Amino acid sequence: MFLSLNLRKKVMMNPYDFRKHAHQVVDWIADYFENIEKFPVKSQVQPKEVYNRLPDSAPEQGESMDKIMQDFQNIILPGITHWQSPNFFAYFPANSSYPSVLAEMLTAALGAQCMIWETSPAAAELEEKVMNWLKQMLSLPISWYGVIQDTASSSTLCALITAREIYTNFAVNKSGFTGNEKFRIYGSSETHSSIDKGVKIAGFGLDNLVKIQVDENQAMRPDALRAAIESDISKGFKPLCVVATLGTTGTTGIDPLKVIAEICQKYKIWLHVDAALAGSALILPEYRWMAEGLDMADSFVFNPHKWLFTNFDCSAYFVKDKDALINTFTILPEYLKTKTTGKVNDYRDWGIALGRRFRALKLWFVIRDFGVQGLQERLRYHIQLAEELERKMKEHPEFELMTRRNINLVCFRYHPKNIGAEYELDQLNESILHKLNATGKIYLTHTRIKNHYVIRLIIGQTYVTREHVEKAWQLICSTIKNIR
Ligand SMILES: *Cc1c(COP(=O)(O)O)cnc(C)c1O
Repeated sequence: MFLSLNLRKKVMMNPYDFRKHAHQVVDWIADYFENIEKFPVKSQVQPKEVYNRLPDSAPEQGESMDKIMQDFQNIILPGITHWQSPNFFAYFPANSSYPSVLAEMLTAALGAQCMIWETSPAAAELEEKVMNWLKQMLSLPISWYGVIQDTASSSTLCALITAREIYTNFAVNKSGFTGNEKFRIYGSSETHSSIDKGVKIAGFGLDNLVKIQVDENQAMRPDALRAAIESDISKGFKPLCVVATLGTTGTTGIDPLKVIAEICQKYKIWLHVDAALAGSALILPEYRWMAEGLDMADSFVFNPHKWLFTNFDCSAYFVKDKDALINTFTILPEYLKTKTTGKVNDYRDWGIALGRRFRALKLWFVIRDFGVQGLQERLRYHIQLAEELERKMKEHPEFELMTRRNINLVCFRYHPKNIGAEYELDQLNESILHKLNATGKIYLTHTRIKNHYVIRLIIGQTYVTREHVEKAWQLICSTIKNIR
């Protein structure tokens, strides 16, 4: 009897316990960041390993926070890939930073659902303000409007659906497709898979997504785009939207925006610009050439959650015509009508979901804590580190750079003189990548360029330093020595 009384827990955590555990968690977080390099960057667990260590049913009685934290350490943490490790060079980064984490804690504490202005005026107005800051920081057209979405995927879907509604005068929203639309969407063969997904969801059908060839720098060929558009028009299709990419995911290829924009103007085609990673580089004047012609575009997205030190999720979506966006997504059931409707930004009408997190807060914290100059310095440092690594690879007789380095991504392969066969080089580089990742010391991923297996190394993690890149290079060099 005594025992069972002791084991029975309070119904809910009380403020006293919360304060205690919150301090412990903050200490845990600070220790984690300090010791992050001690963990294998890429999680080394096997499929179902975590699943099988977890109980099959939820606990009937509440458990102690000490025990929950213990299991977090022992069961969950080994199954985490440490994206915030400065030895993370894979995919594109999904960065965080100290100020971002602080703001995210506050966002969780407020727990505000920011669907309309009235449900938290400060959230709506801070969002409007920081989107305007970003417009200035990136030199975007000052007359545009910005809104924070969860992901670039959602932003691109918004662009596709808005283009559809503008062209049909909102008829698809009202009555659905008639079957006679025959819309065509264009992107390069290197555009992100979220375009394919958006085309599927928006109801165009993947058959109507036209993939345009790229040149030797992995950039869309505008002559091929024009030819495809003209051929489609002659067959009775309606070219609806072109998605141009600044910084393709495979290789950071940069589509020639100005020429593409002129083609879109000529044929009255919606131009959406996907700059998920590379958009951050637009805060650097030396990279603004990428955006030449952007004023002719209709929509633009980039992810502060990739390379602007704001933890996932935070995607900045900008449009030329705010009304087109709002009229596409607006809904106004009785229970959402307010006295301020129409006078303020009710962001539920600016995208897909009704419910919205207070994402502007972390962006505000980050921009203020770093300052624009601080952000610029960090990005320039990353780019410089990529440049230095590229130089080392160039000077090494057995490394091959596989495409032009545009920003902070180096695409390379190991190519010893005694191997000429392509399939052997592919296998060799694949096994090098797996060996590197199995060390747990660094994490890289791959892509294919002209069907060659290529290793990608991106330098964009918030707190990465020259020493980390140097160590990664040493590890790559020692790994190729041992593989032969
Ligand atoms: C990462 C990426 C996306 C997808 O971003 P999400 O925010 O995860 O949807 C889209 N386009 C490009 C070019 C990307 O690199």
